[in-house]
Amino acid sequence: MSEKKIPYKIYLSEDEMPRVWYNLRADMANKPAPLLNPATLQPMTAAELEGVFCKELVAQELDDHTPYFEIPREIRDFYKMYRPSPLVRAYCLEEKLDTPAKIYYKFEGNNTSGSHKLNSAIAQAYYAKRQGLTGVTTETGAGQWGTALSMACGYLGLDCRVYMVKCSYEQKPFRREVMKVYGASVTPSPSETTEVGRKILAQFPGTTGSLGCAISEAVEAAVSTPGYRYVLGSVLNQVLLHQSIIGLEAKTALDKYGVKPDVVIGCAGGGSNLGGLIAPFMGEKLRGEADYRFIAVEPASCPSFTRGAYRYDFCDTGMVCPLAKMYTLGSGFIPSADHAGGLRFHGMSSVLSQLYDDGLMEAVAVKQTDVFAAAEEFARVEGILPAPESSHAILAAINEAKRCRETGEEKTILFGLTGTGYFDLVAYGKFHGGEMHNFAPTDEDIARSLAQLPKVD
Ligand SMILES: *Cc1c(COP(=O)(O)O)cnc(C)c1O
Repeated sequence: MSEKKIPYKIYLSEDEMPRVWYNLRADMANKPAPLLNPATLQPMTAAELEGVFCKELVAQELDDHTPYFEIPREIRDFYKMYRPSPLVRAYCLEEKLDTPAKIYYKFEGNNTSGSHKLNSAIAQAYYAKRQGLTGVTTETGAGQWGTALSMACGYLGLDCRVYMVKCSYEQKPFRREVMKVYGASVTPSPSETTEVGRKILAQFPGTTGSLGCAISEAVEAAVSTPGYRYVLGSVLNQVLLHQSIIGLEAKTALDKYGVKPDVVIGCAGGGSNLGGLIAPFMGEKLRGEADYRFIAVEPASCPSFTRGAYRYDFCDTGMVCPLAKMYTLGSGFIPSADHAGGLRFHGMSSVLSQLYDDGLMEAVAVKQTDVFAAAEEFARVEGILPAPESSHAILAAINEAKRCRETGEEKTILFGLTGTGYFDLVAYGKFHGGEMHNFAPTDEDIARSLAQLPKVD
């Protein structure tokens, strides 16, 4: 084997760590469509949003023009506990695949929450604290976001109420205990504790819930509790802004070695890790300074990009949240019980939706048994036990590398490895036992759901 000029892991020193977040919207010619007030269908104003979200986060949400936001020192200090996250050259995987491709991954699982979500959780909790609030509410699907937020709130001394999608609450008892370690209260959703929860339970008795339901409950709890605001772990512009730390670190590390990826791949649930990873690269593409391919990977069971419609829709099942223009399967879409819980959201970030609609990004949908096979192939040579969500990106990266083996192209592939799979061993067990099935909605299922979209545009 030739001498390796690039180390297995590229780290950054504290001095090299990003001091700003990058706001991709600043460089977009076609800005993402604004959030609309569902009652008036007018763009949501800051004043309206501030009833639900922290003030500073509202400012970030609405700002399509400021390219860089300084990361407050307190947040940079927290980041230092677990960042920079490793950028790994996957030499072992390359050798196993016998590919001329060069594969890099940015690993966000090396913190207790086990995913990238902590990057935005600490930011959102920090601004809530600075505003003098006493607590925050949120929803969690697979549990990573709830865990991340619990950690951030535990650190800052804020109350944290988490509505956890019922099927995950039952499938992942350890997750909810981790949240409690950090002081959060955890309620399975839909629950009897909110009006919207009671309504959903009456309409769909026995439902195992969805992120959309849990969001409705968390928003209701926030607006009806004094001193509380609601925070969201994905989809929103502010979350993509915070997650730009992933891409900025990755790019700084690659630049040190003069490496330029040809293709950047990430899994897409609400779009935050992908939006964060691609941000500085997409910025160069938008400014005409460089070209890259970007690939969003989604589950075939919840194919927002590849089979959804680009329309205004509710972010939640209860239809209490603002309308966002995005690739959506309809807010009433309840995906089948796929094991990549973090990817089971009916919609998608407005930023990524606009980029995809403009042809600046591609998307693929993949089957869950293929995802788990790729996860194991990866684990056996790279060591890390990947989260099922992350493994969507692994599969797409492996497929790309295999194509390079056929064509002889020496492409450089960068993918986001968003987290670890220790809490997903029930899913791995199903895979091993041959009990894992590949559900995909029928065209009729999707059409029925899309027929319910609000009539806006
Ligand atoms: C939440 C989550 C995702 C998907 O969320 P995005 O907002 O699309 O990034 C992916 N991987 C892991 C490990 C997650 O926890």
